[in-house]
Amino acid sequence: MKTVVIGAGLAGLICALRLQKSGCDVLLVEKAQRVGGLCGTFFRDGYEFTIACNDFGWGLVEELNELGVNCEFESKKTQVFYRDQKPTKKQLTIQLPPGPGLLAKLLGRQPLQFLAFIWGIVRANMGLQTGNLQSFAQRFLKPGPVRDLVELPAYLMGVAPYDLANSYALYDKKFGYNYAKPACPVGGPQKMADAIAEAFVQAGGELVLADAVDKLDSCDGGHTLQLASGRKILADKLVDTRERPAPCGVKRGVALSMLLLVVDKRYKFPEGVHTLIHYPECAEQWAEKIDQGLLPTDFAFHIFKSDLDAKADHYSLNCFFYFPRGQEQPNQQCRDFYLDYIDQHLEQLLPGVKKSLIYQQLFSAADFAEEHKMSSRVMPSIGIDKVRQHDAEAKLWCAGHSVWPPGDHAGAAALSGRLVAEAILAD
Ligand SMILES: Cc1cc2nc3c(=O)[nH]c(=O)nc-3n(C[C@H](O)[C@H](O)[C@H](O)COP(=O)(O)OP(=O)(O)OC[C@H]3O[C@@H](n4cnc5c(N)ncnc54)[C@H](O)[C@@H]3O)c2cc1C
Repeated sequence: MKTVVIGAGLAGLICALRLQKSGCDVLLVEKAQRVGGLCGTFFRDGYEFTIACNDFGWGLVEELNELGVNCEFESKKTQVFYRDQKPTKKQLTIQLPPGPGLLAKLLGRQPLQFLAFIWGIVRANMGLQTGNLQSFAQRFLKPGPVRDLVELPAYLMGVAPYDLANSYALYDKKFGYNYAKPACPVGGPQKMADAIAEAFVQAGGELVLADAVDKLDSCDGGHTLQLASGRKILADKLVDTRERPAPCGVKRGVALSMLLLVVDKRYKFPEGVHTLIHYPECAEQWAEKIDQGLLPTDFAFHIFKSDLDAKADHYSLNCFFYFPRGQEQPNQQCRDFYLDYIDQHLEQLLPGVKKSLIYQQLFSAADFAEEHKMSSRVMPSIGIDKVRQHDAEAKLWCAGHSVWPPGDHAGAAALSGRLVAEAILAD
């Protein structure tokens, strides 16, 4: 009785490992030459960079511990550099996850606003089930730092605050993702994916790399898969983790672009920090412009350092940001404006770093799609409830970030892999 899992991203890896460890005979097929999907690294001009996914929730650590995966994690901080021009023109630096220091800072900035907001949350807890982040924030807060910072999660998801459902705030606890406790894999995301694959192979699973599933025929509860190499596989049960296209007419998140940076090793990246975010004031305004495909006057960007294996003289950083919607390969004006803006603000995040830069290259959303054959949209579709795509009678299950459970991150993809494995074992 063979179970085939298509795609060795996080969802496929976790599903395959859980099934194999429970006594199933599993074949995991991956079209790329490496496992991990969006969780991994790639090389550009001889330098290694993180592909996309880099910072996880502690729920994933618990899942991997339960599966006996040999991977270490550290909990690192995110620093937000908020530029508040009016009336103080001061920079506000806050640390996430928030501690008492942040509460004190916000109380100091806008005491009445902040207290009103907390009271609002308490009163409107039920209201979090419906509506969007922007309308929720506008209900309780005047424009200013507290409102901008409350809307930060929308930036991180690559959508405008009016496109982030309030219900997102409830998933972290409900599904045990635990992004409140960040988890950064020691050695980086590729090392984590490789460790899961290694555990799978050690448990007796078969991993096929660099061979895509080209054709799939399902009949009488069985499946015939044709791989690009010509190999034919018969499967009793099939798990498909390939991204499902967004339903017709559904709005999608903005595709992410990045600047690939390489820094001289002598430049010290802040200790205990994973991500640094440049986050300008009036978030609703610049986010709306980007969402509408217009050039903003300000925009947020963030820089992170994955803990990749040490190199002799350098390390790499990714700088993530969103070009205006539709500009997957931006025109020269847009490109110049963005690069100039990042150049102007980079040193607020990393003082003195410009002198230590060895390499820098723009890697647009179109470059990403071409190189990785995946989309760089953190949120593949907006405003639809993710549904379970299982047909137990046809012995066909779907996992991955485009199906249930909710949440557009690795935590949800990993949980979908676990839930599918459990459903198959119960079948
Ligand atoms: C830019 C970006 C940054 C992100 N950052 C974070 C982050 O910091 N933290 C976080 O929690 N989440 C983050 N996410 C979300 C997270 O990366 C995804 O939710 C998660 O990795 C999805 O895992 P998956 O297994 O469902 O899909 P994928 O990682 O897309 O894996 C699917 C796999 O299927 C393979 N495949 C496709 N077609 C075939 C075929 N025909 N045959 C065989 N194999 C096939 C692909 O090659 C791929 O390996 C980010 C997403 C993006 C786009």
